[in-house]
Amino acid sequence: MAVEKHINFFELQKASEKPGCPLCRIVSDRAHKYIDNTLFEHITNRGFRALYRAAGGFCAFHSRHLVSFRDGLAVAILARDILEDRIASFEKKSFWRPKGRCPVCIEREKIEQEYLDFLANSSGNSPEEQELREFFKASDGLCAPHYHGLLFTPKGGKRSVPVWLKNFHEQKFKKLKTRLDTFIELSAYGRQAEFAQLNEKDQIVWKEAAACLNTNIET
Ligand SMILES: [Zn+2]
Ligand SMILES: [Zn+2]
Repeated sequence: MAVEKHINFFELQKASEKPGCPLCRIVSDRAHKYIDNTLFEHITNRGFRALYRAAGGFCAFHSRHLVSFRDGLAVAILARDILEDRIASFEKKSFWRPKGRCPVCIEREKIEQEYLDFLANSSGNSPEEQELREFFKASDGLCAPHYHGLLFTPKGGKRSVPVWLKNFHEQKFKKLKTRLDTFIELSAYGRQAEFAQLNEKDQIVWKEAAACLNTNIET
């Protein structure tokens, strides 16, 4: 399928120029915008409020964003609904269970699937696809959880992935593992001199590994 130059292309290009997994970055930016829009524009939207209430609010990860938003009234309206349900459950001593999922997590999954499908379809040879290949291969590539998401759909189905994407990622993960092996080996007592010979990046390769395995780099 031909890749047309649309918003996904440009967003991927922009994210690829920055450090870390481009998809983690896009997802993080979009989740932030989603919460921002929700609080500023959709607070009067009954559908959203019902969704939020059923989920018992955002998940712990996305709730962290709430205190940094400027719209105190929006946060107050949302929190009031949740608190009403909680108080009722405390008084009746009836166990409270969420009836829905965090709306930001639902949105995040939609964005992830959209981009993963987009990448999986970039196997052609149009100028756009060549350009995509070039800037993507110059990036840090997908983190391991997002590469897994590229290979398998959320229901466990398999996606066919362009060979260049497969080779690029699998070589990258293997190289990282080899560097970790060296790091671990030279961290042993008595090998300080050899460790000191490692280049700067290899001396802190554990940071790269942590970022590569982290599914949520949102800040
Ligand atoms: Zn990622
Ligand atoms: Zn969430």
